[in-house]
Amino acid sequence: VKRVAKKYTAEAEPVKQAAVLGAGIMGGGIAYQSASRGTPILMKDINEPALQLGLDEATKLLGGQLKRGRIDAAKMAKVITQITPTLSYGDFDRADIVVEAVVENVNVKKSVLADVEKNISADSVLASNTSTISITELATALERPEQFCGMHFFNPVHRMPLVEVIRGEKTSEATIARTVAYAQAMGKTPVVVNDCPGFLVNRVLFPYFGGFSGLLESGADFVKVDKVMERFGWPMGPAYLLDVVGIDTAYHADAVMAEGFPDRMSHDNENAIDRMFKLERFGQKNAKGFYRYE
Ligand code: NAD
Repeated sequence: VKRVAKKYTAEAEPVKQAAVLGAGIMGGGIAYQSASRGTPILMKDINEPALQLGLDEATKLLGGQLKRGRIDAAKMAKVITQITPTLSYGDFDRADIVVEAVVENVNVKKSVLADVEKNISADSVLASNTSTISITELATALERPEQFCGMHFFNPVHRMPLVEVIRGEKTSEATIARTVAYAQAMGKTPVVVNDCPGFLVNRVLFPYFGGFSGLLESGADFVKVDKVMERFGWPMGPAYLLDVVGIDTAYHADAVMAEGFPDRMSHDNENAIDRMFKLERFGQKNAKGFYRYE
């Protein structure tokens, strides 16, 4: 049996210069992936320490490639020079595409997007890496909503092949085509999806987390649940996956899903994500989540 899926085909000029906003888990990974596949990228954050975290992440990933013999020291040095850290929008007018990867909060994102739009060239594409927030909703903050779409990478960016390219109500075909072309240039598999809270993957994933949380309510041991799901064939169980994603990120995403689908996704009682968030156990990013990390 052969499965057949319709592939998106559209011609677009290659992206020569990219930019990413936010140097966190995702921003650092996007910068690494773009630079190592040959597209230079500007990386902006709000302060030096945050910027340094993104650079450290990219350097660590490159170090891993060097150790495994996939690249040599010269290539590593070259890739690093393709990532330009910055605290200002100074060179952003050179970017063909800007990927926004700041915190998962509607108001923060809207204000950041409106700000960046003023600092890029009129034909540049703006894309948000939001996990859950509606693209049409974010586009209301913009003067040029047709040049805006979603570009949803998965964590860790260098390992996960899929990128959801999300078409908002006003997104133009040219915007989708350029974003698809950029994802392909990064070595990723883009899939174009329509806009809704959670898009495709998180609409499947968050009900699954809800099911996991329900199991814990019934007294299940999360380590056992993880082991069972791994034996079932998934690369990792739900608790470990939440630690990788970041409990804070999942918490905000869960709230957006509950608002978007109140009949199915809202919950009166605190779920496992809420409780972990309150305990500030954010997962691997602060070395304590369901598991402890050293
Ligand atoms: P993070 O907390 O690791 O990083 C966010 C970064 O944004 C921080 O460095 C912060 O200083 C920076 N920032 C905040 N305001 C800014 C501004 N005005 N300008 C520039 N930088 C600013 O978060 P993350 O996990 O990298 O998530 C970023 C986005 O990616 C979110 O929208 C999230 O939903 C999405 N996402 C996350 C995952 C995941 O698994 N973590 C997966 C897919 C998508």
